[in-house]
Amino acid sequence: MSVPFSLGDLPTLSRSTVDRQEGLRTNPSRLLAKWSDARVVLLDDAGRTPVVEGSSVLAFRKAIDFGASPPEDAVFLGEWQDTDYWSLPGGPSGDAQTVKMAGSWGFVEEVPLVDGEVWVELRGYGDLLDDTSAGLFTTAQALRNWRRQAKFCTRCGHPTELVQFGWASKCTNDGREEYPRTDPAVICLVHSTEGTNGSHVLLARQPIWPAGRYSVLAGFVEAGESLEACVLREIREEVGASVSDVRYLGSQPWPFPRSIMLGFTARADRSLPLVPADGEIEEALWVSREEVRAAFANSAARVAKPTPIANGAAEIILPGNSSIARVMLKAWADAEE
Ligand SMILES: [Zn+2]
Repeated sequence: MSVPFSLGDLPTLSRSTVDRQEGLRTNPSRLLAKWSDARVVLLDDAGRTPVVEGSSVLAFRKAIDFGASPPEDAVFLGEWQDTDYWSLPGGPSGDAQTVKMAGSWGFVEEVPLVDGEVWVELRGYGDLLDDTSAGLFTTAQALRNWRRQAKFCTRCGHPTELVQFGWASKCTNDGREEYPRTDPAVICLVHSTEGTNGSHVLLARQPIWPAGRYSVLAGFVEAGESLEACVLREIREEVGASVSDVRYLGSQPWPFPRSIMLGFTARADRSLPLVPADGEIEEALWVSREEVRAAFANSAARVAKPTPIANGAAEIILPGNSSIARVMLKAWADAEE
């Protein structure tokens, strides 16, 4: 008898080493004292950050180069090995060349290259970073995206200002404070009922996805809804299937713009017909463990030697390297029925 599968690896964007030190957000004198030795994560308008080409480490800037004290829009990310880390908006200086890299779904993408640094997005390249860089980039991205949506007070409509070094916004009229919001979304790997972990997994594709790309099902938690009820509702809505034995697997922040993905697994009878939701799901199908293992092997080969995927190729393209969907599928594929 097999054991129920679990996430073997931490999802890539759940990795972190930095201590958030939330108490320091209201301790300006302490933050100022270490500002001159602090490091800064830059984020450009597109949410990209510089990485030393060929490395797994962010190309940090020196905080002192931005002034004697933190600028108004500086966000305190935390402390690691006696160094403070901050985030600030900023783009590449100088002319960019472009360089080809294997992106999120194994597609070759062109990214800007300036002075030996590539400017990359979190979603496509977060998995290539080490734990410290991945955690810093994820937190910086989440706070940046929240701030872009939180410029006005939700009670009176007046402009807000950033306080607590990026961790709250305060209304300039009535002083109301708001904190970074995160929207929960469930994502569920549904497998068939054979044995402990099933022989097949339910995959689906959205009409807007590249040809051949499939993933497990996901959806936002509604107001007043439990996570388990959301899993049942989403799967019924999207593919017309009833699932049972809903079980939590793990989570990952997904700041695009401000979600957290809560990973679950559940079982469904694969002899019953699937009914894809009109306009939302183009195709839903049961895929065997052998086919999923083959898809992972193809994906690894493509990273070793980046090649475009031919249009119309009869190949299952897995979810992006930074997604929890990929970690869930890998864990299920590696498990025994
Ligand atoms: Zn207000």
